[in-house]
Amino acid sequence: MIIMLDATAPIATSVALLDAASALRKPARTMPDGRGGLIVAIDGSLPDDLLHGPGISAIHRQHKPYVLASLEHRQRSVVTVGDVRIGGDQPVVMAGPCSIEGRESLLRTAHAVRAAGADILRGGAFKPRTSPYSFQGLGEEGLRYLAEAREQTGMPVITEVMEPEQVDLVAEYADIIQIGTRNMSNYPLLKRVGQLRKPVLLKRGMSARVDEWLMSAEYILAGGNMQVILCERGIRSFDPATRFTLDLTAVPLVRQLTHLPIVVDPSHGTGVRSLVSAMAIAGIAAGADGIFVEAEPNPEQATSDAAQTIDPDELREIILRSRLIAEAMAVRLPQPMVYDDVRELVAVAD
Ligand code: PEP
Ligand code: MN
Repeated sequence: MIIMLDATAPIATSVALLDAASALRKPARTMPDGRGGLIVAIDGSLPDDLLHGPGISAIHRQHKPYVLASLEHRQRSVVTVGDVRIGGDQPVVMAGPCSIEGRESLLRTAHAVRAAGADILRGGAFKPRTSPYSFQGLGEEGLRYLAEAREQTGMPVITEVMEPEQVDLVAEYADIIQIGTRNMSNYPLLKRVGQLRKPVLLKRGMSARVDEWLMSAEYILAGGNMQVILCERGIRSFDPATRFTLDLTAVPLVRQLTHLPIVVDPSHGTGVRSLVSAMAIAGIAAGADGIFVEAEPNPEQATSDAAQTIDPDELREIILRSRLIAEAMAVRLPQPMVYDDVRELVAVAD
């Protein structure tokens, strides 16, 4: 069961609940609710006569297993990185190369995606490659270039971490920590980034169900790190026509299940450059808070994921269209509106 304590609850309320649970041999824990209050989560239930105390704002005997990620306990979350608000009114664009390949190329790309309108620079320094013989990334050298690109452009940076032992190093340089699809279920890694007080972008496992994905987010939230951004990056389907299938249904679904912001990755979600633009825009139309996209000035020459990397001109177009779509989606239509009213509006426009 879940007992919600608001910010006014004295410490004695949570202590009494934990003591009561302990006396009944039921494991219990408290977690910050992200609004100054506490959530007391008990495996099993306490009898009604023990459920009192100042500051108790709600008691839930039935709830989703992802307590902290659930929409039941919180309305929309906004993750703030510098001046950028992920989950706010504007779609946020994170763009850059798949891998950081060198200082000059990263700086050139950073300025180009900035000029195209991107908000955050992406780039991998530690790369999870399917083959051990493929380029594995520049490691810390790449992180240094990323920090230099941030300094020059003012853009916050996001980069991937693959192992718990790398977290401190990556967190020293990155503004947002990326957990890749192959690590969505790396629980030691999730616990470790849960200890950070820094935003984490959690990609969906390529074969993970939505509830499994939200439970992985819960690992991070349960550590007290409430700054989690979800990223739908495509799932495996039966059809080899595309590399993955961007699951756009997951976007409104996640919206109905959680308060966490969600972005879409149309690059890995398709694996095909010519499909990236349409799927990025469709992601925004589906309600995503932003896009996460591979872009650089010479896409064909990228060492990794060249086939799905777009150039800055295309990025600029995606950003402009995404903003228009987001504005259109935010419009409140006059109520009640019937088909004839719409036809009249169209006739006037003609
Ligand atoms: C990436 O963003 O470059 C990446 C490796 O993504 P994913 O984990 O979705 O494959
Ligand atoms: Mn990639």
